[in-house]
Amino acid sequence: MVEAQLRRRGIRDERVLRAMGRIPREEFVPAESRLMAYRDDPIHIGFGQTISQPYMTALMAEALELTGVETVLEVGTGCGYAAAVLGELAARVVTVEIVPALVHMARATLRRTLCDSSIAVVEGDGSLGAAAYAPFDAISVAAGAPEIPASLVEQLNDPGRLVIPVGDRADQELRVLWKQNGRIDYRVATQCRFVLLRGGEGWQ
Ligand code: SAH
Repeated sequence: MVEAQLRRRGIRDERVLRAMGRIPREEFVPAESRLMAYRDDPIHIGFGQTISQPYMTALMAEALELTGVETVLEVGTGCGYAAAVLGELAARVVTVEIVPALVHMARATLRRTLCDSSIAVVEGDGSLGAAAYAPFDAISVAAGAPEIPASLVEQLNDPGRLVIPVGDRADQELRVLWKQNGRIDYRVATQCRFVLLRGGEGWQ
């Protein structure tokens, strides 16, 4: 996976490649999908949700340019895999999930795989961020939104970086946004197709 799907496609950050090699992805998928765990695709995890394609998880983690000292917010925990990867790359991860059953599942998996020491899984609507833990040096949103939720931009540190799929169900672009000296800029990393962000501002 690391060589064929990530390095060959342009993921260069050695810390990201190492983290992706270290986290046991098969532990984060349903038992019947274990044999497919390292495929180049998202996989259904139940509740209408998926574990993201490995390349997407790596691309998003790389875009955040983490060095190991950051506090990171993830919106959309799902199975907890990306949170585990981010946990290897930053000092602390707060990950918010809106489906209670997935919160329990992610907590249990992170504990079982011993990935939970720097990760807090919080139940709630992540489109509102996690004010109690803010500000964040980096924010990763794992579900598509029609626009960037204002609360997330507010809870982003200066300097700080945020990665989010923006668009509708069929057509999204992965935006990498950075805040510096009070200014906000962004670039588009790639086209993508995530499940949609729920809640908050009444989008779904
Ligand atoms: N991070 C996961 C991918 C999760 S898919 C991985 O490692 O593969 C997106 C997740 O976002 C789903 O679990 C979905 O339930 C959750 N989600 C959708 N809207 C949300 C919201 N407003 N707040 C928090 N989580 C949300």
